Amino acid sequence: MAGCSVVGHCRAPGPHCPVMVSLGTPDAWEPMGAGALCVHDNYRNNPFHNFRHCFCVTQMMYSMVWLCGLQGLSPPPLSLQPSLSPPPPALPGGGQTSDSLLIQEKFSQMDILVLMTAAICHDLDHPGYNNTYQINARTELAVRYNDISPLENHHCAIAFQILARPECNIFSSVPAEGFRQIRQGMITLILATDMARHAEIMDSFKEKMENFDYSNEEHLTLLKMILIKCCDISNEVRPMEVAEPWVDCLLEEYFMQSDREKSEGLPVAPFMDRDKVTKATAQIGFIKFVLIPMFETVTKLFPIVEETMLRPLWESREHYEELKQLDDAMKEVNKGSAEDTGRRVRDWRPGRTKGGHKSQAH
Ligand SMILES: [Zn+2]
Repeated sequence: MAGCSVVGHCRAPGPHCPVMVSLGTPDAWEPMGAGALCVHDNYRNNPFHNFRHCFCVTQMMYSMVWLCGLQGLSPPPLSLQPSLSPPPPALPGGGQTSDSLLIQEKFSQMDILVLMTAAICHDLDHPGYNNTYQINARTELAVRYNDISPLENHHCAIAFQILARPECNIFSSVPAEGFRQIRQGMITLILATDMARHAEIMDSFKEKMENFDYSNEEHLTLLKMILIKCCDISNEVRPMEVAEPWVDCLLEEYFMQSDREKSEGLPVAPFMDRDKVTKATAQIGFIKFVLIPMFETVTKLFPIVEETMLRPLWESREHYEELKQLDDAMKEVNKGSAEDTGRRVRDWRPGRTKGGHKSQAH
């Protein structure tokens, strides 16, 4: 089997690779297994934007789909189904569609497929330096995409380069119209992960939320965009012992960028500067002004999100507020002891000790 690299810097799994062998016979893992390995190999070993981040985002997407009851019960229209797809599963109750099931049919199987695939591919070949760096440093990516979401455009392009390889194309049996819809959906969702578009997407979603309609395609698309955004930045929803190491990874990646920006004479964002940011200050602002408002909006549509996702965010905010108080107290102590030391140094004169005065006086 050919290697999986589409960008020229990843290993090429062969038929003797233990992971591939464990997946069973070649018939069983191709193209699903080969596609998954190819995706794995096209994530770089960055401190944060690596395959583990891709895994977490995808796992959170799966969780949200189930938590919010989004799983499509209706199969895609016959015209979009793969020619060899099995018949749709029988509905409970002898195939009768009840009102309650209709209410559950928020997304089609196609929607779920797009959500999951977009999550898996959303940071492919991330170089570890954000869009601001790409644009300021006038990198090849920024030039190629005219400064418009260069990274997200790149992740998406890599995804479709992988899918263009016959051995990796998990959609090879999907008819052309179905593939067109998958492609359009994935592009929309991956491009929505550019945080520079956060306010714009949130405003549009809030507007739709005033009268949300599951039969309206535009409303559904915005909900999917919000879902991938939620999953992308959902580390703080996880238990603290899982979430906190990710903050260290993110700061490590930020510092790598700001150090490079300093050495190249480029502007440096304060939140990335190791001399200005602390873990607590970085987290409090992000949780308060980005995460909580976004998950609160989702809670209006899916109340169960409050207990399972918003509550950990509130706890996380409290944790970092306490950490900040501790940081501030330590700073005061250090400042106090530095001032104290400074005063002692200033006040110190040879012979001005108690004994010294005495000796001078006599
Ligand atoms: Zn991401």
